[in-house]
Amino acid sequence: MRLHTIDTGFFKLDGGAMFGVVPKSIWQRSNPADENNMCTWAMRCLLIEDGNRLILIDTGIGNKQDEKFLRHYYLHGESSLDKSLEKKGFNRNDITDVFLTHLHFDHCGGAIERADNGSLVPAFENAVYWSNEKHWNWAVNPNAREKASFLKENILPIQESGQLKFIAEDEHTSFAPGISIRFAYGHTDAMMLPQIEYNNKKIVYMADLLPSTGHIPLPYVMSYDMFPLQTLEEKGKFLREAAEHQYILYLEHDPVNECCTVQATEKGIRLAETFSLDNCT
Ligand SMILES: [Zn+2]
Repeated sequence: MRLHTIDTGFFKLDGGAMFGVVPKSIWQRSNPADENNMCTWAMRCLLIEDGNRLILIDTGIGNKQDEKFLRHYYLHGESSLDKSLEKKGFNRNDITDVFLTHLHFDHCGGAIERADNGSLVPAFENAVYWSNEKHWNWAVNPNAREKASFLKENILPIQESGQLKFIAEDEHTSFAPGISIRFAYGHTDAMMLPQIEYNNKKIVYMADLLPSTGHIPLPYVMSYDMFPLQTLEEKGKFLREAAEHQYILYLEHDPVNECCTVQATEKGIRLAETFSLDNCT
């Protein structure tokens, strides 16, 4: 098995929304905001090369949204999904599996593209797309608070293409040899975190359970989360386990750090080390 970072560029989100109840006077020390109170975040996907399979975890925001939509998110940076795949010697048609942690637009937007005739089609024509039934139903019937994150054009064409499959939702779900799935319910219903056994280490793709190293202290929970108390519980349990077993946390949204470890301190679980994926594989 080989793992590759696939950077798809940066975007901006409101700093206050990203840090929930934590005041700006505190979070801005580690995450400086611009004049509009926006902070920069990565959209960092992960490519797993294993035997005949080439599994892409999340897809970034994609390139089919109109100017009006994108104006709110300030996309920037040199990287794109295609450029990053090419750098690793691959292209979209090589991908056998697209694993979507959840269906928020910054995670699944790149899964669907606009064809020349304007129709919405899978961006990975040879891939199976993976979600789970509970999250799928949650996303296609969105509540008013989460509706802006679930865009129909990102979601419905996946099902229409016939390429969608559901993963069973239970505590011991295995996705592939060496890859198990952890479910979390606080950020959105039934988000999936792949846990990868690699060189006797466990690498966990954190998705939105822990967007960045800035979110490690317990009260740092995003306002975007549907059930913040549930996140608190899931994050606390996960971080204790991660410190004890020295998991490597792969950070999808951290603007600087690809990976980190955590450690138990008197104040609670805190950051231990940061490093790039290449330095841990
Ligand atoms: Zn999300």
